[in-house]
Amino acid sequence: MRNQLKHYINGEWTESTGSEVIEVINPATEEVMGKISSGTEEDLDKAVKAARAAFPAFSRSTKEQRIEWLEKIVQGYEARKEELIEVMTDELGAPLSVSEEVHYPMGLGHFKQAIDSLSDFSFTEERGGHTLLKESIGVSGLITPWNFPTNQLSTKIASAIAAGSPVILKPASKTPFAAIIVAEIIDEAGLPAGAFNLVNGSGSVIGNGISSHPDIDFVSFTGSGGVGETIMQKAAETKKKVALELGGKSPVVVLDDANVEEAAKTAISHITKNTGQVCSAGTRVLIPESMKEEFEQKVVEFLPNYPVGDPRKEGVATGPLVSEDQWETVQSYIEKGENEAKLLVGGAGKPEGLPTGYYAKPTFFTDVSNDSVIAQEEIFGPVSVIITYSDVEDAIEKANDTKYGLAGYVVGQDPVQLSYVASSIRAGRIVVNNAETDFNGPFGGYKESGIGREWGDFGIEEYLEVKSVHGMPTS
Ligand code: NAP
Repeated sequence: MRNQLKHYINGEWTESTGSEVIEVINPATEEVMGKISSGTEEDLDKAVKAARAAFPAFSRSTKEQRIEWLEKIVQGYEARKEELIEVMTDELGAPLSVSEEVHYPMGLGHFKQAIDSLSDFSFTEERGGHTLLKESIGVSGLITPWNFPTNQLSTKIASAIAAGSPVILKPASKTPFAAIIVAEIIDEAGLPAGAFNLVNGSGSVIGNGISSHPDIDFVSFTGSGGVGETIMQKAAETKKKVALELGGKSPVVVLDDANVEEAAKTAISHITKNTGQVCSAGTRVLIPESMKEEFEQKVVEFLPNYPVGDPRKEGVATGPLVSEDQWETVQSYIEKGENEAKLLVGGAGKPEGLPTGYYAKPTFFTDVSNDSVIAQEEIFGPVSVIITYSDVEDAIEKANDTKYGLAGYVVGQDPVQLSYVASSIRAGRIVVNNAETDFNGPFGGYKESGIGREWGDFGIEEYLEVKSVHGMPTS
């Protein structure tokens, strides 16, 4: 059992002022794996005061000093690799291989990238008639979701440290333990007291408190659109800047010269990796009418190669969903889909032989209309839809016929068509033929997928204000 009933405030693990606890459930066993404190407004207030007090010195720290802190965090993160992998598997249900190959390196990648970006970053620019200064935005509140326990908090914390902005982190209460390990790593990296604070607790108390706190200058949120809307409304009261990384319903455009086997594997991996609980997952497959039948056959043939099961068991590709609520939501969408379209493979209920744990069947629907509920709403589970298109213009129109714009994927061979489709999709990140992730590539959404960008130098800019100084003395 992992218990951490303290918050990390002003450089110390500090008793909560409240007595309520939140139980954290292992989604594979449905058992309590640990407890955290349900923080209070008083706890948050202490953290904000600590961050405010840290601000003057932290915001004036040198680039070299910030790089040194980030390097120590990288070393600490690497030293705790095994523990981080195990914790993410237990709290999220990600197979050990996914924790090791996806979650662990993503968290690490942002800290390393921040060092690279910071090395080349200029906080002062001469622009003819004025000097531009980029200065810390102030105290920043970070609110993160459960689906990538270290990825989102790492990009936010790394960028904030690079910018000299003190933070208060509220991780998701379903997956707090990886965040607690990261806090321990930061503690050892020797940041000034108050520069990094972690307050555990519910979204309704700590998340809400961060959004409305008059002494917090900026809120960086990753999570659902509904909560994003609430945060914007709360933040409006104190006119603070808000960055939102929200949901998606991203298209996978399969061009008519694509290798159909590769296209089927790409589509499958989007709903099996992390059990489809990925904001940027490609869950709307757009396929030429002429390829539909062969594509469907390949999906049905290859899907058993991505087995669902105990995330600690070797060879398992797809673990459980994170919680019972999430399982219920996914089931209700599958049931809707059964009325709206044709079930190709998968379906409602638990996979055979897995009565315990929040397991769902990887599911593809076909003959799906782009305006149906399962084609328009984010399901956040292992469910994908196959939609046909007549020509490339029709594919682009369907790809963009969504309120979201987080990501898009293109599979094919002709470089002219690939570039044309990549530049025509209205989304913040496009991946052509499964290209590798570049941690310096900005991440964020068009339309209702969010406001702002994270990762690399764009991520650092979020934690900065710009000041124009006219008549700055030159010596
Ligand atoms: P969520 O319910 O919106 O929760 C996200 C975070 O917000 C959690 O820490 C939650 O706390 C907190 N929260 C809840 N209510 C709040 C409130 N009223 N005020 C302030 N904070 C509040 O989202 P989720 O279910 O964890 O994550 C899934 C969603 O995140 C999906 O829509 C997904 O697409 C999106 N997402 C987007 C990105 C991206 O980069 N664009 C990345 C990953 C996920 P509790 O944990 O205590 O509820």
